[in-house]
Amino acid sequence: MICPDVVDEVKTGEGSEDYSTRATFQFSILKQLLMDGKYEKYRGYINHYERFVKDWLFDQIVQQLSKENSLEKLEKKHLSEIVKIITYTISNIRKTTGFLRDINTFIQNMYCALGEKLVFPEDALDSIMILNTTNTEQFADYLTEFVREIEQSLAAKYDKERDIKERLKSLPFKPQDKMFTRLFGCGEVCPFCGAPCDAGGKEHAKHFTAIHRPKGLNGSTSRCTTKLVTDICSSDVTSKSLFIHPLVTGLVGHPYKDYRKYYPDWIITGDSSIKASDYWKYVMATFNERIAEEEKALPADIPWDWKALTPDDALKSLKKAYNMK
Ligand SMILES: [Zn+2]
Ligand SMILES: [Zn+2]
Repeated sequence: MICPDVVDEVKTGEGSEDYSTRATFQFSILKQLLMDGKYEKYRGYINHYERFVKDWLFDQIVQQLSKENSLEKLEKKHLSEIVKIITYTISNIRKTTGFLRDINTFIQNMYCALGEKLVFPEDALDSIMILNTTNTEQFADYLTEFVREIEQSLAAKYDKERDIKERLKSLPFKPQDKMFTRLFGCGEVCPFCGAPCDAGGKEHAKHFTAIHRPKGLNGSTSRCTTKLVTDICSSDVTSKSLFIHPLVTGLVGHPYKDYRKYYPDWIITGDSSIKASDYWKYVMATFNERIAEEEKALPADIPWDWKALTPDDALKSLKKAYNMK
């Protein structure tokens, strides 16, 4: 129950506008990457998109929940609700059945009333059923008292355990996964440049992306020159160029034009007039040497106008792409 609450907390707390739509979230990540200006962070975003974004979300969740003991308050709220439900159920069974017959019926009634809220391990129930001769009235009294004690000892435990990261990691449902699906849809990336799929939600027949990136950013090189390449997918699929993905095509080049033979789930709109965005041109020009070093390739021949771009130009192009002011 804590998972949806945590997600709500992040979606309504400070800075929540960044999480209101997929576009605002993408924008806030790309803007932050630009501000940080760190190659390692871009590398994580470009090469391990899903992991990067989930880690990013996790950090944001930790930051948000560290404020004003938010996680502790949530835990205590659910704990006291559950305790109330249990004690209410016990007194309700007493009221409706008039008296508590045998322990078996009592436990069965408890199980029916609470089964949706709590998980009862079966062997635990079995061991209680053995107590068939017990005074059921007294058992119900003890149980009520015991549940109150549990509430106090768990609440005290929450006070002591300050490590929010560990506590969030122990949740059976991960808040960052839930947010990821909502904010990032399917999580698929373009097979050539690695740009994330822009189709909304998880259920769609075809993946597509509005902004393809210079392919050198994810280490694509020209086979002849071993230099990183700067072309983008929209022009490739209208050209006569070939691609090789050793695991997919083997070592034989395959025409970009017929990419759907290997990637039938992707739609890459061919348009040779589409150029890379100034944002990605700037990133490619800035980290060209670093990427080349990492990929054991030669740096790309960067057009002179890409080299002239400033972080400000990159930010402007990002704002334009995401309709931000
Ligand atoms: Zn692409
Ligand atoms: Zn998709």
